[in-house]
Amino acid sequence: MGNQPLIVLSDDSQRTSGKDAQSMNIQAGKAVSEAVRTTLGPKGMDKMLVDSSGSVIVTNDGVTLLTEMEIDHPAADMIVDVAETQESEVGDGTTSAVVVAGELLKRAEELLDQDIHATTVAQGYRQAAQKATEALDDVAIDVDVDDTEILEQIAATAMTGKGAENARDLLSGLVVDAVRTVADEDGIDAENISVEKVVGGAIENSELVEGVLVNKDRVSDNMPYFVEDANVAVIDGALEVKETEIDAEVNVTDPDQLQQFIEQEEAQLEEMVDELVDVGADAVFVDKGIDDMAQHYLADAGILAVRRVKDSDAQQIARSTGATPVTSVDDITEDHLGFAGSVAQKEIAGDEHIFIEDVEDAKSVTLILRGGTEHVIDEVDRAIEDAIGVVRTTIVDGKVLAGGGAPEIQLSLALRDYADSVGGREQLAVEAFADALEVIPRTLAENAGLDPIDSLVELRSEHDAGETGAGLDAYTGDTIDMEAEGVYEPQRVKTQAIDSATEAAVMLLRIDDVIAAGDLAVADDDEGDDMPAGGPGGMGGGMGGMGGGMGGMM
Ligand code: ADP
Ligand code: MG
Repeated sequence: MGNQPLIVLSDDSQRTSGKDAQSMNIQAGKAVSEAVRTTLGPKGMDKMLVDSSGSVIVTNDGVTLLTEMEIDHPAADMIVDVAETQESEVGDGTTSAVVVAGELLKRAEELLDQDIHATTVAQGYRQAAQKATEALDDVAIDVDVDDTEILEQIAATAMTGKGAENARDLLSGLVVDAVRTVADEDGIDAENISVEKVVGGAIENSELVEGVLVNKDRVSDNMPYFVEDANVAVIDGALEVKETEIDAEVNVTDPDQLQQFIEQEEAQLEEMVDELVDVGADAVFVDKGIDDMAQHYLADAGILAVRRVKDSDAQQIARSTGATPVTSVDDITEDHLGFAGSVAQKEIAGDEHIFIEDVEDAKSVTLILRGGTEHVIDEVDRAIEDAIGVVRTTIVDGKVLAGGGAPEIQLSLALRDYADSVGGREQLAVEAFADALEVIPRTLAENAGLDPIDSLVELRSEHDAGETGAGLDAYTGDTIDMEAEGVYEPQRVKTQAIDSATEAAVMLLRIDDVIAAGDLAVADDDEGDDMPAGGPGGMGGGMGGMGGGMGGMM
């Protein structure tokens, strides 16, 4: 046995070790961050994604880009996770988080090249991240749920540079109203805010409805189109006579028998409707179908009924009116009913909708988003989701920061000071971290067509002089006070981005062995750096897995 190597891996598996593994992971991470970099900030550009079935998404939203891009490289996936965590925790700052992660990896690579050990870099990064989050507390501004102006500015900042830009003022007002309306003692559940996208009209025609909207007609024109003070029933089943389980054939020998059969069915349907009438239901939302005969009896009883209601709509109706869904009308009692001051059918852009308003229970709102085309509305919707996220986070945490690169410059200065006290080789890592954070103002400047060096020099000197809110006006290129400009972001957008970017970078740096069961797309060394950001060639070459997804992209 002596010198015979022991083979423990299968033939198909691929192994990359040591520096190669590190380098491969770093390239993959950098490639992901390069792909979204140009979308950052008010002057960031959009990207068009075409999937294999030919459907198109035009977006500026980091997390949407990364999740739709069909990335398949394990290290790249970890950077995509950073965006996803950011999205679920705060709802905004996904591009920033990924760009910072990429920059941390890039700076780490330089340190590794100087023979600084990966664990030392990791240690220095962790210390720096910790220090950075503390330093943010010093510049954070307190905000209260009644600070309408700041809350609207926060929503507007999140929507800057997105499709929603034109109607930013109107939309930020609607978002703040929406979030405040659904807030209660238990916090803010964004599930209670639904967005109804309506193609037709302009974004400026968007509005907020306090209640739930169902994109359906009432099932029969003979039903009332408006019910006041409605008892609402939600049925998670059908108003039909049950089909027999077995394929039974009913042989009818004479017309009387047929008549009898039909009458029996009708009687059953009438009974079902009677159950609803007896408990006092005025509006009925049914998951499945409603038989024609049942429709007739319902209309006779003056009940407004809607069939084939989407699950998510049914849940929201139940939550907001206080109704408990029943699977069959046989079981229904008064206790299952909810209440709404008004249930009415109204038209938006030629499309009938049922409005359930003045609800009794959990507060629930629907944002009606209007726009010229579906693609426009989809992108506005993503901007709105970001805005809802930041307003909710702000109300919960009560802390915001000025935007436009101000916090990153502030932190970078604070970390350079701190680095002196760290000493040893970790000091270099802390300094690298400080440099890495400046990627945000630098990219904001680059994307706005400004000279990044000039902008950084100016920003640093303002911050040195104590202007903690000094940031980059992407429109004029001037260094301005972001607070006066009303550009705010929740503090958590920054702390979360720093935390998850650091975690991902550290995790990737500590890996010195990649063992893959199958074929692994390996990034080659110098591809990541000089590729045109997001250009088809660059990604294709850098990361095998992405070649397909990105190839058709631009
Ligand atoms: P992310 O996905 O990271 O939120 P965005 O494209 O939304 O990416 O860009 C966010 C960055 O743009 C933040 O650093 C924010 O401070 C900055 N920003 C937003 N509005 C402005 C503005 N009016 N002027 C300068 N910077 C802005
Ligand atoms: Mg944003």
